Amino acid sequence: MVSFESSRELKDGGEPVIGVLALQGSFPLHLASLRRCGIRGRRVRKPGDLAGIRGLIIPGGESTTMENLARRCGLFEALREAAGAGLPIFGTCAGAILMGRGAERPDRLELVDVEVRRNAYGRQVDSFSADLFLAPFDRPFHSVFIRAPIIENPGTRLDCEVLGKHGENPVLLRSGRMLLATFHPELTDDLRVHRLFLRICGIEEGNAPAEALEETSNRQLRKNSY
Ligand code: GLN
Repeated sequence: MVSFESSRELKDGGEPVIGVLALQGSFPLHLASLRRCGIRGRRVRKPGDLAGIRGLIIPGGESTTMENLARRCGLFEALREAAGAGLPIFGTCAGAILMGRGAERPDRLELVDVEVRRNAYGRQVDSFSADLFLAPFDRPFHSVFIRAPIIENPGTRLDCEVLGKHGENPVLLRSGRMLLATFHPELTDDLRVHRLFLRICGIEEGNAPAEALEETSNRQLRKNSY
């Protein structure tokens, strides 16, 4: 079993570290957002990478591909185990799909008891953005939806808190230490959703100097496709 609680400070000089599942998809941009929050990010590509992290981000991308890759490297079960042991996890878009339930592919981690329906707004051309009022914030958040999923009927779940909607559809949802967004906060310069997740992880302020954080180069940013 991977221990993340006991080894928080290991080899990172006592600063909190947030993992980003780095198998496919938008992970470089999440690492960049964390860096801008002053938080050290770590690419998670194998179960051992979960050791010592305070929280994990599962990025957007292609959920079936991510599920396949996660299974191959032993992360699918390891993620379930880590979540069961209390690791806070934030899933954006494909990440939210993996964290929910659903009858169709991919197999889900089922960390949150809501159905998340893939590509529910339609095809790639039906991608859109909207300035939405999200409960935790006093100004609208520019929310980018790319072949986004829809979270179905969370209202019936006592343990789920809908923090934002687009029309009738929940777009930001919290369930305990789990946070789901059907949009892509890492595609904007607005760090409020990342900071919200950091607070769920028990991190109030990041203060690590930018050059000490993660090794992502600008070249690697934005080259991942959905
Ligand atoms: N449509 C993708 C899927 O089903 C998710 C898209 C995204 O993460 N932006 O996996």
